[in-house]
Amino acid sequence: MTRRTSKPLRIGKVTVGGDAPIVVQSMTKTDTRDIPATVNQIKELEICGCEIVRVAVPDRQAAESLVTIRQNVSLPIIADIHFDYHLALAALKAGVDGLRLNPGNMGDREQIARVIAAAKERDVPIRIGVNAGSLPASFQPKAPLAERMANMALEQIRLMEDLGFHLIKVSLKAFDVPTTIQAYQMIADKIPYALHLGVTEAGLPRTGAIRSAIGIGILLYQGIGDTIRVSLSAHPCEEVFVAYEILKSLGLRQRGPTLVSCPSCGRAEVDIITLAEAVSKRLKKISKPIKVAVMGCVVNGPGEAEDADVGIACGKGKGAIFRKGKVVGTVSEDKLLEALMAEVNSLDKR
Ligand code: SF4
Repeated sequence: MTRRTSKPLRIGKVTVGGDAPIVVQSMTKTDTRDIPATVNQIKELEICGCEIVRVAVPDRQAAESLVTIRQNVSLPIIADIHFDYHLALAALKAGVDGLRLNPGNMGDREQIARVIAAAKERDVPIRIGVNAGSLPASFQPKAPLAERMANMALEQIRLMEDLGFHLIKVSLKAFDVPTTIQAYQMIADKIPYALHLGVTEAGLPRTGAIRSAIGIGILLYQGIGDTIRVSLSAHPCEEVFVAYEILKSLGLRQRGPTLVSCPSCGRAEVDIITLAEAVSKRLKKISKPIKVAVMGCVVNGPGEAEDADVGIACGKGKGAIFRKGKVVGTVSEDKLLEALMAEVNSLDKR
């Protein structure tokens, strides 16, 4: 995978683009005016691995809440602004680390110029966040959707560049996966700026994770993308979990354990599905990037268990426990979970 070259920029303490690791973002789902709830959710997000958080700024009170929220959390905050440039100015005044502007509902040059001037003064980057759902119907109505999205971003980029502003990041999100991929591909070699990837409104966790993995995963595999957000109708930590699974699947980031488990079949002589679910639940408490294998029989079991840091290869009512490629014991089915986790825990403490 050769990564597209992009201009790095700083969102608070986090670098996005250039050679920096692909950054994982999410968005709070609290009412931003409810300061304690928003602060709590940002703290939860930080614990689960989120690196930059976006918050909705629907009105002046929400913008003003950002002052206290900013003082009480350490994750960089991006203010999500639509319709009203005054809210962007208020968010910048409140001390946010980045802005997201939607060119689909904020196109007035004079107003954008005022926001740019304030962002420039504070060295705050702006994401041009194009969303298929909020493209004005009058904008290049005859062109295909992906092209309209890319062209809308290019138009906004030109406006910002004309104003001498280059702290730019771009996203082109649609619900339709091929449209999303095409839009990013169209713009990737036309601009030097970092790209934030996402498939918008991807849905409930199961289907949303799949849509996101395909859309974001294909682009990342082509070297496109500097930061990602998985949009799910779920707690934002679920978004962060899926984002890391996408990055881990492509070998782009490591965080927490990876579970290799066989699907089970007629050869399995222990209840692999129940065992894998129990292991997965217990692994949530492990922070090190340990590879754990739970395998049902001798067909692929010993190979995968040997390859993992810790593994089980099951036989009839029992299983061999592997650690770093060597068998360290054989235990009965009822003791498999505890024996496996004892090995995992001892590696996690090292
Ligand atoms: Fe079936 Fe064994 Fe493969 Fe698991 S490892 S799916 S039990 S053949």
